[in-house]
Amino acid sequence: MKLLEYEGKEVFERYGIPMLPRCGVLRIGDSAENLKVDGAGPWVVKAQVLAGGRGKAGGVKLAKTAAEARDLAGQMLGMKIVTHQTQGKALTVEEVLVEHAAGIDREIYISVVLDRKAGAPAIIASAEGGMSIEELAHNSPEKIVRVAVDAESGLLDFQARQLAFDLRIPQKNFCEFTGFARQLVKCFVEMDASLVEVNPLIISSDGRLLAIDSKIVTDDNALFRHKDQAARPDHEATEIEKEAKAIGINYIGLDGDIGCMVNGAGLAMATLDTVKMAGGEAANFLDVGGGANVDQVTKAFQIILKDPKVRAVLVNIFGGIMKCDNIAAGVVEASKKVHIKVPLIVRLEGTNVEEGKAILAKSGLKIEQADSLWEAAQKAVAAAKR
Ligand code: GDP
Ligand code: MG
Repeated sequence: MKLLEYEGKEVFERYGIPMLPRCGVLRIGDSAENLKVDGAGPWVVKAQVLAGGRGKAGGVKLAKTAAEARDLAGQMLGMKIVTHQTQGKALTVEEVLVEHAAGIDREIYISVVLDRKAGAPAIIASAEGGMSIEELAHNSPEKIVRVAVDAESGLLDFQARQLAFDLRIPQKNFCEFTGFARQLVKCFVEMDASLVEVNPLIISSDGRLLAIDSKIVTDDNALFRHKDQAARPDHEATEIEKEAKAIGINYIGLDGDIGCMVNGAGLAMATLDTVKMAGGEAANFLDVGGGANVDQVTKAFQIILKDPKVRAVLVNIFGGIMKCDNIAAGVVEASKKVHIKVPLIVRLEGTNVEEGKAILAKSGLKIEQADSLWEAAQKAVAAAKR
């Protein structure tokens, strides 16, 4: 799960990461007048979307007066934002963070990532952080520092000091930096994160070390250990994905037009690949789970058909514990309930497959059957093009 900047900063707060005071978050429907923009300026107004590169896309604005900060926050709400990280899609700004701003002397990049090969965290950092970090990594990879970390012991003191030297942290901020770096690693480990990033970490013009931005990505498989995180809205999930999750179906929306209903994640992945090889594009990944009973299959059809892009549905179910005749009866009953208006292609395999096929054939429903996954994929691709 990806956290918005302000959510990440709430987590940072618990780890004592030094930050600028936040005034509040404005949401669609809120009045900017209620924002507590007080004390001395300037302020910074920031679009809360799940993408970096907001600075270059008009999603980060400085305000000299409180009135200006409120105006900018109001203007930013509802704005569409496209950055180099949004893959051409526009994200709508539904929340805006307003916080105190600092003058910036230096911008540093630091992140903790999961090094999958090493099976351990690693720090990636650069003395030259900020908005062009991708270009820096591409053009001057030697300026990127990498530190392998042991998850059990955390960042060791000597590693933190070496990192501070590598990043040319000023003497004045040295101890604070080493403490910060250790806490960042602690945050990564305790949050079960796959990424914790601060870009930029700044040395302000009045000599303070401050985390200006936050990016945290946590591993959904560890959500059971983080009740507070699990309760957060998943900003990335579409409405259909949220509905599917609520009824226990693993569903991820994709860009194609062939709806896929499969039992088992591995078979679902293989089905997507086969559809692609047959010249089509899947509209979704969907794993109905182990018990492909009438209820689950009905729900799965309903979920798949909510996507208006779907022009054909491909059912690929292996009857192992659940026998094919039971699955076929389930598919027939479910398709009667759901009134599927697009072509339905079914490929069954496994125990009692002949009985299952006979049930589908006798159902009176317009079901195209296939004997192999390859045949099913080709039929689905042809049907979607009709
Ligand atoms: P991103 O572009 O989405 O990563 O958003 P950031 O939060 O990193 O902000 C982008 C840039 O805006 C930073 O690199 C800074 O240069 C600038 N910025 C953000 N906050 C402040 C601030 O408090 N003061 C000043 N002077 N600039 C800021
Ligand atoms: Mg940033």
